[in-house]
Amino acid sequence: MSSTFVDSIMATVTARNPAEPEFLQAVKEVVESIEPVIQKRPEMAKLKIVERIVEPERQIMFRVPWVDDQGNVQVNRGFRVQFNSAIGPYKGGLRFHPSVNLGIIKFLGFEQIFKNALTTTPIGGGKGGSDFDPKGKSDMEVMRFCQSFMSELFRHIGPDTDVPAGDIGVGGREIGYMYGQYKKLTNSFTGVLTGKGIPYGGSLARKEATGYGLVYFTTKMLEARNTDWKGKRVVISGSGNVAIYAAEKAMSLGATVVAMSDSNGYVVDEAGIDLNAIKRIKEVERGRIKEYLDVRPKAVYTEGCAGIWTVPCAIALPCATQNELDGNAAATLVKNGCIAVAEGANMPSTPEAVKTFLDAGVSFGPAKAANAGGVATSALEMSQNSMRMAWSFEEVDAKLHTIMNNIYFQCRDASEAYGMKGNLVAGANIAGFLKVAEAMLAQGI
Ligand code: GLU
Repeated sequence: MSSTFVDSIMATVTARNPAEPEFLQAVKEVVESIEPVIQKRPEMAKLKIVERIVEPERQIMFRVPWVDDQGNVQVNRGFRVQFNSAIGPYKGGLRFHPSVNLGIIKFLGFEQIFKNALTTTPIGGGKGGSDFDPKGKSDMEVMRFCQSFMSELFRHIGPDTDVPAGDIGVGGREIGYMYGQYKKLTNSFTGVLTGKGIPYGGSLARKEATGYGLVYFTTKMLEARNTDWKGKRVVISGSGNVAIYAAEKAMSLGATVVAMSDSNGYVVDEAGIDLNAIKRIKEVERGRIKEYLDVRPKAVYTEGCAGIWTVPCAIALPCATQNELDGNAAATLVKNGCIAVAEGANMPSTPEAVKTFLDAGVSFGPAKAANAGGVATSALEMSQNSMRMAWSFEEVDAKLHTIMNNIYFQCRDASEAYGMKGNLVAGANIAGFLKVAEAMLAQGI
């Protein structure tokens, strides 16, 4: 779709952010979806809401020097993009991965604004990270890096202003090291990071939340097709936090997960993935998924990740990284009878893939709705920290379930209100945008 409105916004954003393809991709999808809203609400055009929303409120870049185990000095780059605070303090994860650059952090921060709005909790959008690669580093190297990273980041964040959490490459270990450093540097710390360990203010069910939430959201998509998880073949890319707990919940609802992957390759186990083996390899040993064959010699390992989408399935859950599922992969999934796709990673489907799914009538749950359970539970962690209380696993899980159902209804209702029934991409973008835009209008320029 191309129009004067979309073209003119994209011309400005492209000129201002050259060489940031992922950011431009994320902006274009939202701007295309919200065009009908702007046509209905001329005051939003007059007050330049869209032009303002695509520009981060603040972008911070900093040097992160640290010393490796050999005594050599290493230098990485740190980022925090505080994108939008219209509905609350900046909230969003930190990603540590060699591919991280400003454009990647901006795409993630931009998506986070609308995702966080959909959660119905009062949090704005932000994101950060570093091009540091935790893979192959010792615990002490990771600790020294995290301490150095926080030695600069601490001055820009706070429990009521900006609350980071994990993302790719940042789990409980990294959050713990960064929290420890924040404490040394400040005298006010509870609630400054989420995804903390349970003994020091973390929330039960936060670790499981993104994956469980993804499955709760997909359940609503399946219900709309009068079906459920029972007996369905499921393919899940990735084997991190999101993938593992999506698999756990899908299996508990009667599905068979037949394939999972990591950044080196994927395993197919026709008998159904042994999730305890994956948890041990990935969560305890920090190993490679290839080692799954030591446990299940009949499983098949294939080098490279893209091939996972050739494994026939009824439900596909891309939970690895951005643009991991392209138009060809989508066409193959459709040909093999896939009926539902929900994004556990952020923007894992290319625009061509999304179009292929929507055109083929595949139920498609976009990331900013389907994977919002993680950040929603981070907001629940913030609430518990503020109250100096800890809810039970069941209480948090029940709240998460309600939030995911609400997100689904918001997306469905917005898509129907704007004449795009069945298009949850448009629904998520419109519902998320409307909430942020109303808050921005109310607060003036
Ligand atoms: N990184 C996660 C996301 O993409 C979680 C962020 C958070 O909990 O703040 O939404």
